[in-house]
Amino acid sequence: MSSSPTRQFQTPRGTRDLLPEDYDIHRHILEHAREQARLAGFGFIEPPTFEQAELFARGVGEGTDIVEKEMYIFDDRGGDRLALRPEGTASVCRVYLQHGMANLSQPVKLAYHLPIFRYERPQAGRFRQHTQFGVEAIGVRDAALDAEVIDLGWRVAESLGLTDLKILLNSIGDIQDRRAYVPLLKEHFEPHLDRIAPDDQARWDRAPMRLLDSKDDRTKPFQIGAPVITDHLRAESAAYYDAVKSHLEALGIPYEERPTLVRGLDYYTHTVFEIVPADADGSQVTVLAGGRYDGLIEQIGGPPTPGIGFGMGLERMAHHLREQGLTPDSDSATEVLIATLGDGADIAASKIAGNLRRQGVAATLAFGGRSLKAQLRQANRSGARFAVIAGVRDLAEGNVTIRDLQTSDQRQVALDAVVGELTGELASPAYTRPQD
Ligand code: ATP
Ligand code: MG
Repeated sequence: MSSSPTRQFQTPRGTRDLLPEDYDIHRHILEHAREQARLAGFGFIEPPTFEQAELFARGVGEGTDIVEKEMYIFDDRGGDRLALRPEGTASVCRVYLQHGMANLSQPVKLAYHLPIFRYERPQAGRFRQHTQFGVEAIGVRDAALDAEVIDLGWRVAESLGLTDLKILLNSIGDIQDRRAYVPLLKEHFEPHLDRIAPDDQARWDRAPMRLLDSKDDRTKPFQIGAPVITDHLRAESAAYYDAVKSHLEALGIPYEERPTLVRGLDYYTHTVFEIVPADADGSQVTVLAGGRYDGLIEQIGGPPTPGIGFGMGLERMAHHLREQGLTPDSDSATEVLIATLGDGADIAASKIAGNLRRQGVAATLAFGGRSLKAQLRQANRSGARFAVIAGVRDLAEGNVTIRDLQTSDQRQVALDAVVGELTGELASPAYTRPQD
């Protein structure tokens, strides 16, 4: 009789599991991001993971990669057309409108930490589910606010210890600026249309600025020498861009102007920026990206309302921190491991472990009923500072042994004193764990 083979389940393509060591880094990044967001006056929100698909179709824009081919879209059992969130900004703008936030004092500053879903071609640094920390400052159009948001992104990176990043900055103007510029851009690409990537050929008519953002090797050679929008901004738009730069300089934030930076989403106007490794030229390395979106809220049915924000990819930031050797110490490290010797010692051992944890000490039992030698080997491997050896014979006399795992010194202490002894030792400066 043949039995059916046991199926080995795997993460869906393009997704991954965060294991404890990954999680520690994500938490570390988020702690720094939270603190910087707090200092800049942002409050956190969390919209649902799925929304009406139409929100993104209108918000992100028909004809963008995200809407055209990357959304996880489905009809629920009641027939509603829903999409897993492919980006944060449109959701946050929906929150702003739905909760009447236009009546609050402006700008309204909202931050988020959310999973994002895009049906992308999986590759290094590009997943089908990733996580973004992002911020949106809605309701004000002021160059000082643009600089403040860029500054916040820069400070998050700085506070994590990163010194090898740079800010790329551009202004992509607004619809009026583009009226003069776009025909010139189309003219530039027209003679090469049959050689650029098919997807980009289709964009040439509909969204020609996106050709400048194309990462396809067939299109890239023809990006060289293309006219740039900054040469065609109206005086008002150019002045706004200049003001953003002046504010950044006043804040001491370094930036590099990149006139070909256009970003892949429809809603951006004026200021756009990215934070990338200083030596980067690839396309999977942008850790943080954002810009101003003065038309977005209107596109999703609200009154004309300006806004600016950014999204930061936690997986990319984590990868970058790893490369730079800037990862935090593990948070889950054991401080005390409790070994047992002889039958019946385990009850006393669990009691000690429980009491230590109640005092805020990370304590673990050496499970498995192995030899004392094997248990102490485990203690050394665990990185614990101390082992407690609870032996039946000592216990009968009301004692246990504390072993210093760094010096191998051992001493006997009374059972009812062991928790106090250990908390005292661990709190003393000689035993403070190395700080991250
Ligand atoms: P890219 O040009 O790298 O595709 P994007 O323009 O699509 O990025 P945004 O939509 O602005 O990126 O998202 C903000 C940030 O989220 C990016 O800078 C990046 O750090 C991260 N990010 C975007 N897409 C992915 C993905 N598929 N996997 C992992 N991180 C991502
Ligand atoms: Mg993308």
